[in-house]
Amino acid sequence: MKAFQYATAHSFDSARELVADNGMYLAGGNDTLGLLKEYLVSPNILVNIKSLPGLDKIERGSDSWKIGALVTVAQIENDPQIAKTFPGLQQAAAEVGSQQIRNVASVGGNLAQHSRCWYFRHRDTLCMKKGGDLCYARHGENRYHSLFTGNTCISPVVSNLATAFAALDAKAIVLRDGKETPMTMAKLYQGAWENPQSHNSLKPGDLIVRVEIPTARTSSAFIQMSDKQAFDWALVSCAAAANLSGGKLNSPRVAVGCISPVPWQVEAANQFLDGKELTDDVASQAADMILKGAEPHEHNGYKIPMAHALIRRTLLKLKG
Ligand SMILES: Cc1cc2nc3c(=O)[nH]c(=O)nc-3n(C[C@H](O)[C@H](O)[C@H](O)COP(=O)(O)OP(=O)(O)OC[C@H]3O[C@@H](n4cnc5c(N)ncnc54)[C@H](O)[C@@H]3O)c2cc1C
Repeated sequence: MKAFQYATAHSFDSARELVADNGMYLAGGNDTLGLLKEYLVSPNILVNIKSLPGLDKIERGSDSWKIGALVTVAQIENDPQIAKTFPGLQQAAAEVGSQQIRNVASVGGNLAQHSRCWYFRHRDTLCMKKGGDLCYARHGENRYHSLFTGNTCISPVVSNLATAFAALDAKAIVLRDGKETPMTMAKLYQGAWENPQSHNSLKPGDLIVRVEIPTARTSSAFIQMSDKQAFDWALVSCAAAANLSGGKLNSPRVAVGCISPVPWQVEAANQFLDGKELTDDVASQAADMILKGAEPHEHNGYKIPMAHALIRRTLLKLKG
């Protein structure tokens, strides 16, 4: 790894000033240390943000909850009130990596983690994410990659929390140029959809300070499938959230992870589900709509039936 400076920020202004255009924020360090050791990033300074005030808090309001960017994935997993209010979020947290990873992984770091594409992670491969002009995965080993893409790079978003937050219609609050900017999950990852070099829409210096989750949807669920039961990212994940009254869905939202650079959501499917009784057939029709137009590559066609089954099962899980 290349030499870098290290500083601890005690205020939001100093964090921003220190990180400037060529530094990186350091939260739990799970992703950052790997990137540094593999020479995938070479910031001139790492700015420790764990000392910033208030970011490790969960505030529980009646209309929305605020989850600070430094709250750990393990805190979300183990909080009984989160399990009651946002079960889909708790289930998504419980599936992240391993216990050791969840103990230190932060909400902000989970959302801002970089691509897991093995070509990007190979330090000697100059893929599009690193400024090259080829997506090696597109015509190479692409079993973990996207079914929907907005540009030539086919690396998908793999954050479990992003998928769960998308179904709950949560917003990341990003401190940009001193102002709080709310971003839906679609907006937070739009940058990766548009630009092969981006992992998300964050600009240098942007700091996720918290995530705000509306309490409007009282049922939620998350299911993922992975190669391994632990210590692994999902091949495909799915989150759903809605209100259920008299067996009918109200304001439903479905998001699918690991099949696109953004948590994949299809508004027409949400509208189709709205007001419908939740049956296997209805869930299956919604899955058809969500996966319509999927473009599999040589090795990832299996993701289509897998995602279809997960969408159906996650929706049916809303019934409890
Ligand atoms: C073996 C393994 C398995 C894993 N499995 C899963 C999985 O199944 N699902 C899943 O979702 N994740 C998984 N992960 C990823 C893990 O959850 C993330 O690496 C972790 O959440 C990152 O959090 P951190 O606090 O350690 O971030 P850091 O490593 O500190 O930061 C990660 C990135 O986010 C930036 N950053 C950190 N905080 C902020 C902030 N507040 N605002 C703006 N930028 C910020 C950093 O600059 C850096 O670019 C796995 C990781 C490993 C190593």
